[in-house]
Amino acid sequence: MADIPISSQVANPLGELLPPLTQHEAAVESARCLMCYDAPCTHACPTHIDIPKFIKKISTNNLLGSARTILESNLLGATCARVCPVQELCEGACVLGSEHKPIAIGRLQRYAMDYAYNRTTPLFHPAKATGKSVAIVGAGPAGLSCAGELAKLGHAVTLFEKRELAGGLSTYGIIGLREPVDVALAEVSMLTKLGMKVETGKELGKNLDWSQLKAFGAVFLGVGLGMTNALGIPGEEHILDGLEYIEQSKIDTNKLKVGKNVLVIGAGNTAIDCATIAKRLGAEQVTMVYRRTENEMTAYPHEYDFIKREGVRFSFLTQPVRVNVTDNTVQSLACERMSLGSPDASGRPSPQRVPGSEFLLPADQVVKATGQEKPSLVTLLNLKTKKGFVQVNDNFETSLPGVYAGGDCVRATGAASTVMAVQDGKLAARAIHERLVAHG
Ligand SMILES: Cc1cc2nc3c(=O)[nH]c(=O)nc-3n(C[C@H](O)[C@H](O)[C@H](O)COP(=O)(O)OP(=O)(O)OC[C@H]3O[C@@H](n4cnc5c(N)ncnc54)[C@H](O)[C@@H]3O)c2cc1C
Ligand code: SF4
Repeated sequence: MADIPISSQVANPLGELLPPLTQHEAAVESARCLMCYDAPCTHACPTHIDIPKFIKKISTNNLLGSARTILESNLLGATCARVCPVQELCEGACVLGSEHKPIAIGRLQRYAMDYAYNRTTPLFHPAKATGKSVAIVGAGPAGLSCAGELAKLGHAVTLFEKRELAGGLSTYGIIGLREPVDVALAEVSMLTKLGMKVETGKELGKNLDWSQLKAFGAVFLGVGLGMTNALGIPGEEHILDGLEYIEQSKIDTNKLKVGKNVLVIGAGNTAIDCATIAKRLGAEQVTMVYRRTENEMTAYPHEYDFIKREGVRFSFLTQPVRVNVTDNTVQSLACERMSLGSPDASGRPSPQRVPGSEFLLPADQVVKATGQEKPSLVTLLNLKTKKGFVQVNDNFETSLPGVYAGGDCVRATGAASTVMAVQDGKLAARAIHERLVAHG
C-alpha cells in the first residue's frame, strides 16, 4: 500500500488502491523469488499456501496451475490476496525483506487468482456425492471456506445467510480501496460452482429455526460478530455506526452523506477505514478520537502510516462524554482528557479521567468504530462461551455435539482476520468430514 503515491488515485476515490500487476511486472517479481526450501512465508501464512510453488508456476506462465495451488490451501485466495496484512504475515517473513524488498506475494496471488476468475475452466470437481448433508450458518469467509471444502469432498452443503448478499465483511465491511464488492461476489460465485446451495435472507433465530437444522448431519456456525459496541453516552443516537458507514460507501453510495468536519471515535483498523472514507469523499477535516495514545492503537502500523499520509488528524488521550446537538444537527463532541494508569485486562495502560478537563471538539458528523458486539447466537443456542465468544475445542466443535464454529465468532484472543477465518473453516470442514465418515 505504501508504494502507491496518493496522487496517482484514479477517478473513484474508493476504488481498489493497488493496480493489478502487468504480465511483465508479474514475470519480473516471480523471478526474484528464491524458492526457499521449507519457506518461512508458507509458515507465516495462516492457511499455509505453498507460496514458492504458486510463484514458480507464475514464472513459467502456468497461471491456472498457480491458482489451483493457492486454492488447494485457501478457497478465498482472491480476497486474501487483497486484504491480508501481508506485512505482518507472508511478506513479513520473506528472507529478502531484511536487505531488499520482500517478494510482493499478495499481488502475485491476486495476479494468478484474477487470471483464473476471468476464465471459465473449473479448477476443481467435487468428489462423488456422499449422501451426507451439512448446514452452514453465515456466508462470510469462515462459512464459505467450510462450505467449499465440504462441497469438494462430495457433501451436500446448504449455506444460510441473513443478508441479501453473501461474502460477510468481505462484501459489506472491508473498504473498497482494499476489496471492491465485485471481487467478493465473484469469489462467492466461484465457490457456489462447487455445488452448494445458498439461501440468502435466512437468519437463524429469526426466520430460520434451529429445529430446521436438525435434519443435517452437522452444522457449522460462521456468524461473525455484531454491530459496533455502544458507548453509553448522551446523544449517542446521533453517532453513526462505523460498519454502516463503510457498508454505505460500498453498496449504498447514494445514502452516504459525509460531513465537513468529521470525528471518528476509535483507533483500530475499522476506525482508519471510516476516516479514509470521510477524507476521500470530501470531508474538509477528519479527526480520530482515541482515549489512549498512538502506542496503544490496535491498527496495524502500516495502516496508521497510511492514514497520516491521507491528512487525518488525531486527538489522543480523549474520551467522548456527550454529543451536543441543536435542531437535530451535531454541533460538537464533548470530551474529557485522559491520562494512562496501570495495565488493564487487555494488558495496555488503562485510561483514567483527568477531573475537570472537559472540552469540546467541534464536528458536524461523528462516527464510532469501537469494536463489534460479541456473537448474539450463543444465548439462543445455549452454547458455552469464552470471554463472550463461542467456545470450541481443537476440532472447532462447540459445546453442542455435531455443531462446529469458526471465524470471528470464536476469536476470543488476539486480532481477527479474513485469512484466519478461512483457515478455521477449512480445519472445521476436515473435522466435520471425519465425523460424517466415522458415522457411516
Ligand atoms: C471494517 C472491517 C475491516 C476489516 N478489514 C480487514 C482487512 O483488511 N483484512 C483482514 O484480513 N481482515 C479484515 N477485517 C476482519 C475480517 O473481515 C473478519 O475477520 C472476517 O470477515 C471474519 O469472517 P467470518 O466469516 O467469521 O465473519 P463475517 O465476515 O462477519 O461473516 C459472518 C456472516 O454471518 C452472517 N450471519 C450472522 N448471523 C447470522 C444468523 N443468525 N443467521 C444467518 N447468517 C448470519 C452475517 O450476515 C455474515 O455474512 C475487517 C473487519 C472489519 C469489521
Ligand atoms: S493468504 Fe494472505 S498470508 Fe497467505 S500467502 Fe496469501 S496473502 Fe499471504
